[in-house]
Amino acid sequence: MVASPLPSVDSLLRNDAAAVLIERFGRPATVGALRETLAALRAERAFPVSSPAIFDRAADALACRFAASQLPVFNLTGTVLHTNLGRAPLPPEAAAAAEQALRSATTLEYNLETGRRGERDDQVRRLLRTLTGAEDATVVNNNAAAVLLILNTLALAKEVPVSRGELIEIGGSFRMPEIMARAGAKLVEVGTTNRTHSRDFEAAIGPDTALLMRVHQANFVQSGFTAAVHPAQLAEIAHAAGLPMVEDLGSGSLADLARWGLPHEPMPQASLAAGADLVCFSGDKLLGGPQAGLIVGRAGLIRQLNRNPLKRALRLDKGRLAALEAVLRLYLDPDRLAGRLPTLRLLTRPEPDIRAAAERIAPAISAWLPGSLVSIESCRSQIGSGALPADLLPSAAVTVRGSEVDQLAARLRRLPRPVIGRIAEGRVWLDCRCLELGDEPAFVTQLYTHCQARAS
Ligand SMILES: *Cc1c(COP(=O)(O)O)cnc(C)c1O
Repeated sequence: MVASPLPSVDSLLRNDAAAVLIERFGRPATVGALRETLAALRAERAFPVSSPAIFDRAADALACRFAASQLPVFNLTGTVLHTNLGRAPLPPEAAAAAEQALRSATTLEYNLETGRRGERDDQVRRLLRTLTGAEDATVVNNNAAAVLLILNTLALAKEVPVSRGELIEIGGSFRMPEIMARAGAKLVEVGTTNRTHSRDFEAAIGPDTALLMRVHQANFVQSGFTAAVHPAQLAEIAHAAGLPMVEDLGSGSLADLARWGLPHEPMPQASLAAGADLVCFSGDKLLGGPQAGLIVGRAGLIRQLNRNPLKRALRLDKGRLAALEAVLRLYLDPDRLAGRLPTLRLLTRPEPDIRAAAERIAPAISAWLPGSLVSIESCRSQIGSGALPADLLPSAAVTVRGSEVDQLAARLRRLPRPVIGRIAEGRVWLDCRCLELGDEPAFVTQLYTHCQARAS
């Protein structure tokens, strides 16, 4: 055995540099990092090595371990509600409400009048009743949870007929037949992929049928020789058999998007008016709020949902409830909604405005990437999250052409606040729809700082 030429952990800990790391990261993490660094150097047989070099390496490892994994990014993908980038950006009043609720004790389940236990979802329920005209409402973790809770409550060990045209898969792992199975409901497939008729549902109803369900065709469009049962018809068939009709709207918008020149998207109000007994939709898709699953409909059915023990497992925390409440309050004033709700503001942003932003930031990109071919092009943005898949919004992008577009996109992703674009036609496309005026200084400063850093 040859004595290790590396210092011991104990001797390193007596060093001033160790005190600096302990102050910043705590003693256990610092000791661990020094131990791992020494082990790595020993394995690499990388000695002799100076103490400062050991500390540098341990400090890098610690910085890595303590870095937040969720970073703010610039979403220049052209998809406004990008599921991988966290969907809807919250309005400031919602973020502030969430922060305040998270930082202190609150009246989450406390009634100030009586000094006794109150109802967690009360305020959101009241707002949803006002906004949709529903008898009652409840909220859970997300829309997938809403579907799960509805089926588990109303259709456990019973049958649920669904059109074959609506047995959808949406990104990740949400597949309607699988959710139904996990909820304990028996799926009864009716109709065909392209055509389902009223008589298909009528024939599928039997003694074990729990409810009739309609699922919004998110993420895809059917055209050609197709037929679907209208919600009002489906509700009529359900009610004639004494069954509830449930509609999963997916995105669903509380405001009529046609008002702002956007393509119409199904609204929960309209589903209820057509006769649906329960309607569920997402909080962080077109609604523009935090992740949540909103359920509106008949008071008796909502009561049953709230009594299911699963509701407790799927409920919202106080931060998200506060944020959701703040977002719903914005809907009370539709006239100012497009200015105040970021999702709607981004979706309704006029193309000339986006083009002007592209023109303002293009020089910073040229400066950051000398010698590259930077140009401004027309493009089309997507709403995302399954909403209106066929409708694209006219937009403008800064495009960068280079021999290695993948590397270029990777370099943009490696900036301190990563810039996420999209690669097409041998270029990187930076769709400027989601780069608002307030974001521009940070965007431009980052690029100039980084080209200076490389130059020096
Ligand atoms: C998006 C979507 C869901 C799931 O909603 P999450 O809020 O993502 O859980 C369920 N059904 C449909 C039709 C959807 O579009």
